[in-house]
Parts: sequence; C-alpha cells; structure tokens
Amino acid sequence: MDYALTWLETVLLDAGLKVAPTEGWRRRGRREMGRVDGVICHHTATTAKGNMPTLGTLIKGRVDVSGPLAQLGLARDGTFYLIAAGAANHAGAGDGIYRTISGNTHYIGIEAENPLPYSATWPDIQMDAYRRGVAAILSHLDLGAGACIAHKEYAPSRKPIDPAFDMREFRLVVAAIMEGRTEVRPQIPAVDPVTNRPTLRRGMTSDRVGDLQQALGLTVDREFGARTEATVRAFQRQHGMVPDGIVGPRTWKALERV
Ligand SMILES: [Zn+2]
Repeated sequence: MDYALTWLETVLLDAGLKVAPTEGWRRRGRREMGRVDGVICHHTATTAKGNMPTLGTLIKGRVDVSGPLAQLGLARDGTFYLIAAGAANHAGAGDGIYRTISGNTHYIGIEAENPLPYSATWPDIQMDAYRRGVAAILSHLDLGAGACIAHKEYAPSRKPIDPAFDMREFRLVVAAIMEGRTEVRPQIPAVDPVTNRPTLRRGMTSDRVGDLQQALGLTVDREFGARTEATVRAFQRQHGMVPDGIVGPRTWKALERV
C-alpha cells in the first residue's frame, strides 16, 4: 500500500519545480508517517561529484542506519528526487524542546546535495528550489514558515552545522514566497510570451514533450524523464547554454535552428 506523503509529487510539480520520482518511492518508508509538524532541512556533506551522488545511499541507507534516509533529495540543479512517501530515518534524537518528539515520524526530511567543506557555496538554482519546495510543502500542510527547521536546530549537539546556511534568512524568504510578497518567481517563464511555447521540464507528459523528443532525435513517448533530460543537457552544452535540462524560450529557439 502507498504511504501518506504521495502528495509531495503534485505539490512540488505545481510549484513549478523539477521532480524525479525514484522507483517504488510511494511504498518506501520505515512505517507510516504520523501527523506532519513540518520540514527538517539537511545537507548531505559528501565530497562526491555529480548532480545527486548520494541518491543510492538515501534510498538504501548506510551500514549504521537503514534507509530510507529522507523523503526528498534535492540535487544541485534543483531537482527534487522523490525517495519515500513514508517515515524516513533522517532526524534521530532531538535536543531541548525536540527531545520528546520523533522527528522521523513527524517531520519531512529534505537532504540537499552539498559537498564538504561546509563553506562550499550553494548553486542559486538549488537554493531557489529549496526555498520554493519548502514553501509549497508548508502551504499544503497549512503550516507557517516557522515549521521549517534545520537539523542543526533539532539536534545541535550532534549536528552543529547541518545545513550550512542561515536558517533565519531561509525562513524569511520561505515566508515571503508563501505570502506572495517576493519577487522570487520561476527563473524561466512557464510559457514563452512571444511564441506561446510552454517551458518543459522533467516530470511532464504532453504532446509538446513528444515534439521536443522528435526534435532531439529521441524515441517519442511524450514523457520527460531522465533520458530526455540528459539529452537536453547535452544539447544545451553543445550550444553554449546553461545545461539545466529545462526547455525554456532560449532552448526552444536553439532547437528551431537545428
Ligand atoms: Zn541532517
């Protein structure tokens, strides 16, 4: 049976974010979630290269902790990987006011890919997705921005810098997004105002995705999955564009000229 958090997929897609479901994520979890009190933000703190190198570990777990280790993995390019719709082993024991709360049962865990050292910068596209994803989840739960806490706030004695960014500032921007008080908007328009062509990204299924696949010389199945995204990235690289895997006005234009 599916666990309770399957709504994460539509909520993140509706927020205009890139979403990549992993095989079997709807039935993955330690157990069913309890009442959801909020979101705990994490960083992966690994030196591995790539867009989401810890994905396998987040699904399967480590020698010392069984998986899944989070409900969501946030890749460097801003893609949310859907890992588990049930409870995950991401929080462990809390300190202070969190001492009597099971973070694993009551908080949704997001593990964002970020390398050691802790001073490493966060790509803008990843931080933007982090804030917008948390805002969308909290809005869906009818909770305020204060329901978003860091692992370093939940368990400072064990996780003093997880994640390595300012949570007060993070929550201020999340609140601004939730209240519509911010200029933050999708970096790419949903529809090109001149040509009316829709912006396409991973997770979408449509005839326009089929047109895109045809233009790229791919098998046409109308589903924007990993293979289509990888081909879009390669195309963007070849044409001197930012290889974000999103087909917006500039990428459409470049495709026209092929
Ligand atoms: Zn953590």
